[in-house]
Amino acid sequence: MKRRKSRLIKIGKVKIGDNSPIVVQGMTKTDTEDITATVKQIEKLTKAGAKIVRMAVPTRRAAKAISQIKARVDVPLVADVHFNHRIALECIDQGVDKVRINPGNMGKEEILRVAKRAKEAGIPLRIGVNSGSLEEKFLGENLDKVRGYREEKHREIIAKAMAESALQVVRLLEEENFFDIVVSLKSSDVLTTVLSYELIADKIPYPLHLGITATGPPPQGTIKSSIGMGMLLAQGIGDTLRVSLTADPVEEVRMGYQILKTLHLYEAGPTLISCPTCGRCKVDLKSIVEKVLSKIEEMKSPLTVAIMGCEVNGPGEAKEADIGIACMRGGGVLFKKGKRIKKLKKEEMVKVLLREIKLLAGESING
Ligand code: SF4
Repeated sequence: MKRRKSRLIKIGKVKIGDNSPIVVQGMTKTDTEDITATVKQIEKLTKAGAKIVRMAVPTRRAAKAISQIKARVDVPLVADVHFNHRIALECIDQGVDKVRINPGNMGKEEILRVAKRAKEAGIPLRIGVNSGSLEEKFLGENLDKVRGYREEKHREIIAKAMAESALQVVRLLEEENFFDIVVSLKSSDVLTTVLSYELIADKIPYPLHLGITATGPPPQGTIKSSIGMGMLLAQGIGDTLRVSLTADPVEEVRMGYQILKTLHLYEAGPTLISCPTCGRCKVDLKSIVEKVLSKIEEMKSPLTVAIMGCEVNGPGEAKEADIGIACMRGGGVLFKKGKRIKKLKKEEMVKVLLREIKLLAGESING
């Protein structure tokens, strides 16, 4: 997949842009002033694979907690700051690796002050536009019309306004020779978000951080995030991403990787192929799949495992996978690297499949 060209930006030890691997970010949901709880959650997020972690920093006390949090974790930290540029300055002084500011609630003079301090500290800024806090001047008399995002012309108005809001700040920073920039344009409406990123993608050379905001709980939130980010990633747009769900933040990180894996933008861990079953299926495929998945989901090797319900599509999918089983009445047939290995009885299928996966992956599996 040809990716959009973007400038290389460093967030602590992590590189984004310039064809670097797309980075999955996490965000804590703890009170950042509660250092112990925040560190614990950051550890969970990094264990799940988050390469960068953002924290809300709404107060000076939260900003002052950053150096202590940073000393206890090993992942670049981003401070999410709104309204008060002094908090952003404090975050930088505390050693944060990137600051996200929102041009919808911070004035130009204040943003420039933050940029000056960021430049001295050698850290990037993310201009994070959000449709929920877009400056009113960008929508003006359209504000009442566009509510609900139902009409295409209304989505266009908001998308253009979001892109314009970010562009103005980008130009402002460039005039001050500040180029350490990341941009995000998040809306809770999928099509509006996609359009806004499409509008800005070829106007600026900076990395784009993707997200659909306020998507709700899974599965709605997961579907919205997958469609929105999927549409952009498939066009080569996007250097980092965060899935936002009304759910455990670890789930957000997992979903981020699922989205990347689906588009072959990240190859690690198992990919499971299993059929929906139908009247031809003579085994309890759902329970077989659940048992296997629970044992392999934390594996690191990029292995495709097929578990199929019958001989219609079963042998084909199992042959195309690294390893697979095509079930039939009373058992199934094991395939490995495209070759039919042997027939298995129903009772031994899960055990044998797991043993073979372990051998193939060369790593131990859960349990
Ligand atoms: S593989 Fe067989 S059991 Fe599964 S959906 Fe297709 S026909 Fe049905």
